[in-house]
Amino acid sequence: MQIVTSPSELRALRREWKGTVGFVPTMGALHKGHLTLIQKSKAQNEKSIVSIFVNPTQFGENEDFAHYPRKPEADANICQKAGVDILFMPKAEDIYFEEDEVLLKAPQKSGFVLEGAARPGHFDGVLRVVLKLLHLTSPTRAYFGQKDTQQLLLIQKMARELFLPYEIVPCPTERDNDGLALSSRNAYLSEAEKKEALKISASLKEATKHIMTGELQSSQIKERALKVLEGVEVEYFEIVDRNLMPLERIIKGETIILVTARVGKVRLLDNLWI
Ligand code: AMP
Repeated sequence: MQIVTSPSELRALRREWKGTVGFVPTMGALHKGHLTLIQKSKAQNEKSIVSIFVNPTQFGENEDFAHYPRKPEADANICQKAGVDILFMPKAEDIYFEEDEVLLKAPQKSGFVLEGAARPGHFDGVLRVVLKLLHLTSPTRAYFGQKDTQQLLLIQKMARELFLPYEIVPCPTERDNDGLALSSRNAYLSEAEKKEALKISASLKEATKHIMTGELQSSQIKERALKVLEGVEVEYFEIVDRNLMPLERIIKGETIILVTARVGKVRLLDNLWI
């Protein structure tokens, strides 16, 4: 595995490859969720690139950019063992120019609801860095987790509208044995908080159970799920379609239930695709 920090070196190495290339962009502090994306990339492509970059432009002023977990050595070991060909670990000044002025705007509607409403400008930063990274790695396929549903849908939208020649591959959410969706931010949770956090996936299970009995009214499902979440600071629990617009009734094959809650100081996201 080669560890590369400079975009020009990455491009030079990339140009030598003729076959299929998979790309997994991450912010590091790698866990099993990231690993499933890497394994999928390995299985579907001749070469695989992983990037680790804690992107400053997607963090708001009062967010955890400075404290976001960073574990470069452990991450490099994980990538090496997983058979990654290039690990790209640029610094902010390698990705952003001093006067980096060409901005991408997240879509007015779908980019500023849910996560976009809670974190204004977040998706501008996400799309900006993802586009840069996609062009630098020029992959056949790029892998993104359904764990970050809104991010995935906006990246798919960007790829379609800007005619990007890269296939965006969605990957299911990896969970721990108790059902908690894996996240780098889980590292902030105490044991007691982890228990509390289990209510998040439990609320989605409760919603599923309710839907299985034939209940399709969103308000009813939300009411039941919120009972499970009692004691947790819920930011939003929304039932939406694939364009992130609210749905009054569940339509199978078109519905996503999204929940974001705070446990202690940690913001946790989970979702369920129906
Ligand atoms: P991050 O490092 O949090 O930016 O995540 C990098 C990629 O891994 C994103 O596409 C995430 O959606 C994906 N990812 C994060 N957590 C999980 C998980 N538990 N299961 C599957 N994919 C995940």
